[in-house]
Amino acid sequence: MKIQKVKNRGFLFTFYNSPDWDLNIHLIMGRKYNYIIDTGLGSLCMAPIIEHIDDNKPVVVINTHYHWDHIWGNGEFKDSIIISHRLCREIIELQWDDMIEKNKHYCHGNIEKCLPNLVFEKELYFPDDKIRIIYTPGHTIDCISIIDEEEKVINVGDNIGDTIEEIVPDVDCEEKLYIDTLLKYKEIDFDTCISGHNVILDKKVVDKILRML
Ligand SMILES: [Zn+2]
Repeated sequence: MKIQKVKNRGFLFTFYNSPDWDLNIHLIMGRKYNYIIDTGLGSLCMAPIIEHIDDNKPVVVINTHYHWDHIWGNGEFKDSIIISHRLCREIIELQWDDMIEKNKHYCHGNIEKCLPNLVFEKELYFPDDKIRIIYTPGHTIDCISIIDEEEKVINVGDNIGDTIEEIVPDVDCEEKLYIDTLLKYKEIDFDTCISGHNVILDKKVVDKILRML
């Protein structure tokens, strides 16, 4: 596991223990809350993040989408706010057992079913921390992105492919929705782009993907 500092208040924890892909967990230590973006493969993915948080500010968990490798650590935050798109909660509820059955060999520590408890349709905003969360379907129909407006950093979840070689992600919804999301990204003021599995990128990645579609 590697920890990279992202500007002044962000940290990216990358796990290399899975054979097939790297896995990123993003922490933003705001003035009011600590934001944990995605919870990985279980309690052992969350332990280093919890250890890293050295203040008493409450944790806000954000699930970028319903896929199992982004939600299995939710059980460590049963008493916290856990945010997702409305569809994300609905799909987790429907597919939880199936996702465990098919992928349980990837689990890292304990896994406990813990659904998002604050859902939204289009947008949420934390004004004290200047953290904006918006609906950005593409990789899946329930994808959301998190913008740290103060530091000009965006987390797009899996809306960018897993590696530099495969920069275009699997798109499990109408391609038009994904293109609209990419065009939306172009309008947003950021220079640093974090995603679920890739390295830290810059804004040029958006045009690169648009050209490849
Ligand atoms: Zn995914």
